[in-house]
Amino acid sequence: MSNIDTQLLQPDALGLDQAVQILQAGGLVAMPTETVYGLAGDARNDHAVARIFAAKGRPHFNPLIVHVQDLEQAQKYAHFDTNAMALALAFWPGALTLVLPLRLESGLAPLVTAGLDTVALRVPSHQVARDLLAHFDGPLAAPSANPSGRISPTRVQHVVQGLWGRIDAILEGGAALVGVESTIIGLSYPPLLLRPGGVSAAQIEHVLNASLATIHPQSAIVAPGQLASHYAPNAAVRLGVMQPLVGEIWVGFGPDCGGAALNLSPSADLAEAAANLFHLMREADLLAKGQASIAFAPIPSHGLGAAINDRLSRSAAPRPRC
Ligand code: AMP
Ligand code: MG
Repeated sequence: MSNIDTQLLQPDALGLDQAVQILQAGGLVAMPTETVYGLAGDARNDHAVARIFAAKGRPHFNPLIVHVQDLEQAQKYAHFDTNAMALALAFWPGALTLVLPLRLESGLAPLVTAGLDTVALRVPSHQVARDLLAHFDGPLAAPSANPSGRISPTRVQHVVQGLWGRIDAILEGGAALVGVESTIIGLSYPPLLLRPGGVSAAQIEHVLNASLATIHPQSAIVAPGQLASHYAPNAAVRLGVMQPLVGEIWVGFGPDCGGAALNLSPSADLAEAAANLFHLMREADLLAKGQASIAFAPIPSHGLGAAINDRLSRSAAPRPRC
C-alpha cells in the first residue's frame, strides 16, 4: 500500500482547507501535535479509521485516541465525572488523554474504540492541531504517525520517511515540543495510569488529591486489545467456516458466501471488512439471540486481515463466565 500521492501541506489557510477536504472525504492527514505527529482521520468514519490501521500496518485493532477541540466537544462523546472534569480543566489543552465511558449516541466509529464502551479523548495544544480541529469541526482519531513498531515521529521528516506514499497528506508544523506521547489515565476507580507520558503522575495525583494505581509492567495485559472486557459477542464463535451448521449465523467474506446472513465484504476488500467488523459482530450477536453460534468465513491474513483475524480469534477464544 504505497501508491498514494502524498501531499506536503503548509499550515496556512490554503493548506488547512486542503487538509479538511481530505479528512471530509475519509482520507488521512498527518498532523503535528505537541506530543508527537499524529495520523489523523475522521473518528466517525469506519473506513477512515480502517485506513489508519492499514497505513500503519498495525497487526491489532487497539483503540485510538480521539482528538477534539475543547472540553465542550469532548463531552459530546464521553461522560465526565468529577475527577475527569478536574483533570480536563487542569491539563487541557495538553499532553493528557482521558479514558472515559463512551456516550451511547456518540456517533464515533466502533473501530476507533475497538468495540469498547470507553473512549480515549485528548485536546491537543499545538496551534496547527487546534487550527485543523477548528476547521474540520469534528473528532479526529490520531495514533502516532509512524509504521507500527517504529519510533514515534517528532519531526515532519520522520513522517515522510515512515508513511510517504501511504497517506494523503502531511501538514507541516515543526518539531514536537513534548516529544513523548500523552499520559493516559483511566477514570475507573481508583484512577489508573495506563501509560506514562507528557504530564507526570505526580501532577495528576496533585489535582486528584489521590494516588494513581498503575498496571504492573510485567502484567499480561499489554494493550486494551488483550483485556477481557474487550468486545466479544455473547454467542459462541467459530472461525474459518465455509459450511455453517444449520441455524448458525454465518458471516461471510467475499463473493463465495451466498446464503450468509451477513457479509464483512462481498467484494473481498479487507479495508471494507475492517470498517464493518465491529458493526457486524454486534449485528450477528443480535441475530443469534443468545442461542445460535456465529460462524465467520475465512479471512486472508495479509494486510488488515492480520488485525481482523487477531480480533476474531479473541472473540472465539474460551471466555470465563461469572
Ligand atoms: P496511540 O496508538 O499512540 O494513539 O496510543 C493509544 C493508546 O491509548 C494505546 O495505548 C491504547 O491502548 C490506549 N487507549 C485508547 N483507548 C483506550 C480505551 N478505551 N481503554 C484503554 N486504553 C485505551
Ligand atoms: Mg504509537
